[in-house]
Amino acid sequence: MREKNKKRIKKKISSSRKNMLVEWGNYKWQLEHAVTSIDVFEEITDIKFNEEERGRLEETLAKFPLSVTPYYASLIDTENFRNDPVFKQAFPDVRELDIMTNDMADPLSEDKDSPVPGITHRYPDRVLFNVTSTCSMYCRHCTRKRKVGDSDDILSKKDMLEAVRYIKSTKGVRDVLISGGDPFMLPDEFIDWILEKLSAIPHVEVIRIGTRMPVVLPYRITEDLVKVLSKYKNLWINTHFNHPRELSSTAEKALARLSEAGIPLGNQTVLLAGVNDCPRIIKKLMHRLVQNRVRPYYLYQCDMSEGLSHFRTPVGKGMEIMEHMIGHTSGFAVPRYVIDAPGGGGKIPVMPEYLISWSTNKVILRNYEGVITTYKEPDSYEPTFCDRNCDECDLQLNLEAGHEEKPVGIVKLLRDHESLVSLTPSANERIRRRNGK
Ligand SMILES: *Cc1c(COP(=O)(O)O)cnc(C)c1O
Repeated sequence: MREKNKKRIKKKISSSRKNMLVEWGNYKWQLEHAVTSIDVFEEITDIKFNEEERGRLEETLAKFPLSVTPYYASLIDTENFRNDPVFKQAFPDVRELDIMTNDMADPLSEDKDSPVPGITHRYPDRVLFNVTSTCSMYCRHCTRKRKVGDSDDILSKKDMLEAVRYIKSTKGVRDVLISGGDPFMLPDEFIDWILEKLSAIPHVEVIRIGTRMPVVLPYRITEDLVKVLSKYKNLWINTHFNHPRELSSTAEKALARLSEAGIPLGNQTVLLAGVNDCPRIIKKLMHRLVQNRVRPYYLYQCDMSEGLSHFRTPVGKGMEIMEHMIGHTSGFAVPRYVIDAPGGGGKIPVMPEYLISWSTNKVILRNYEGVITTYKEPDSYEPTFCDRNCDECDLQLNLEAGHEEKPVGIVKLLRDHESLVSLTPSANERIRRRNGK
């Protein structure tokens, strides 16, 4: 099917641009010929929309632009496109204009947690660094839909340097997540420049790149790019496959190039209604990923961004999928299911319950088969009072002085030497009453 589509698309593009050489496997050619209008989309896919639908689709495009690489378009099953997972991720749906009352332009408050342009600093030890707002394909389910197609495509060099300076001066940041947009939209030299700058910062222990190129434009994973990436020994790459159909032989080759260069690969999937909200699809996808040396990382509950309501599922669907995976298949093929907290609370893991009861010396667990079992806790465990003085402790931690971070959240309640017994929201009515305010 894909070969047939590829042939047709090549023919249509070359006949509309006379004598133009079709360089299908050249990513620059793919980018130049990204489909951004319904006309061209209809032409290359032989799909036709009626007048009324077209009108509403044009309205949708005016708010959220369209861009699909010819490669990704070739994965669409044109005979059954309305149910096609690739079509649904790439082509606008008029329901994107239905903004629900709880929808938000920036549900994760990434802009509010941004100390300097390009940086979102949410967690104590890591930052998100958005280096561009363009992509080769605009995913219809993008959580950063608000920014898609913005004219300020690329951070200025000055902003970039400012962001690097922020990381450099913020000693607690040991992990930098480069994302966007798609960082691989930048030229190789620019990517090299950013990686070099970040690697030169002593406290940056790991760098990650989030990219969808292996999925939507695998030709971008060139030997030259891989040569640049493989210079950095602390680099991880996370990609974004949502459906087994996206793992074409071309995509698999791109993944092999990266893994053969020694780069650890992860994958983040978004749970999407009508695309992959089925335990069998997700399991198949995870199996195909691990076959390609890609470790499933997150399964995301779809964010509450504007125009995504038709993609959202109940949380129960994700739970059901996790129930079908945990224990039933290889542990490393199971992603962590998370909800990115609206308002900027970060990713919160959600899981089916396995611990079903406990007493003072036993816990009762159930397994994936429904077997209920007992874990007997040790009678001999001697709890030690931890005063955080590692020099006096038998465990040989030998941390450098001053290495420990400030406790955050529930950890504050768990630590022996803290006197705190409760955490109370700052806007608590009862406490305000107590204080006579
Ligand atoms: C997801 C995310 C990270 C990375 O989180 P991990 O759970 O470590 O993968 C960092 N910063 C922001 C703002 C994020 O959204």
